[in-house]
Amino acid sequence: MRQIRSKAYRKLMAMYCTSFGFRQPYQVLVDSEMCETAVSQKIDLLARMESVLVGSVKMMITQCCIHELYIQGKSHQPAVDLAKSFERRKCNHKEAIPGNECIASVMGETNQHRYAVATQSHPLRVNLRAIPGVPIVHINRSVMVLEPASDATLQSKQRAEKDALGPSTSEKAMLNAVTPQVEPVVKRKKAPKGPNPLSVKKKVPKGTVPVTTRVEKADVRSKRKREEADDVDGASVEAQPKPKRRRRHKAASRLAERSN
Ligand SMILES: [Zn+2]
Repeated sequence: MRQIRSKAYRKLMAMYCTSFGFRQPYQVLVDSEMCETAVSQKIDLLARMESVLVGSVKMMITQCCIHELYIQGKSHQPAVDLAKSFERRKCNHKEAIPGNECIASVMGETNQHRYAVATQSHPLRVNLRAIPGVPIVHINRSVMVLEPASDATLQSKQRAEKDALGPSTSEKAMLNAVTPQVEPVVKRKKAPKGPNPLSVKKKVPKGTVPVTTRVEKADVRSKRKREEADDVDGASVEAQPKPKRRRRHKAASRLAERSN
């Protein structure tokens, strides 16, 4: 077997082990045609199966499949002998049914017993691809081939991985137990809205002189100016502001004294 294919098969079987619970020795259901092909092409079925599945293998054959070989007569004796060396899988079909149908019934819908299937029947292989987690083997021109994972297998694997990211069943149970105890979030009542307290003028207690703000001072100044203007027009003299005192320079005052 080529190195690259061996690596791919190893990886594929590791996926069947981690995602679908396969364990060695892998149980392989073999159909009657596979037995005949192995004999006619002188293929060591067990050895080749162990190399393709990369691990120890337990070969199995159903009652109906071995019955198919019995009824074909003496010429098929080597295939019967090979099949007899495999473990017999009870299928409980009272009357033998075709091997394909027997294997399909043993596999069920979920392959709960984790079988790999070695079959030369193309229709059976197509049917098996619909079941997630079935390693399918066939012989193509004396080369034993393990099929790549089917779409059903890949989808099931992805679903399992997605579930693994979320809480596990035990964690979910814990969450459910905890959730009802959590108190409902109480909405904090907001205080009635008023003007911004920083922009409101402070209330002045009665009997105290209000502290004038800068704005008020400006008002006073402008009021005074208006009054001065009124005085010029010949209004009340009492309201006239005091003349500003000018500071004289000492030198200037001395000069004035001398001249006096
Ligand atoms: Zn059967």
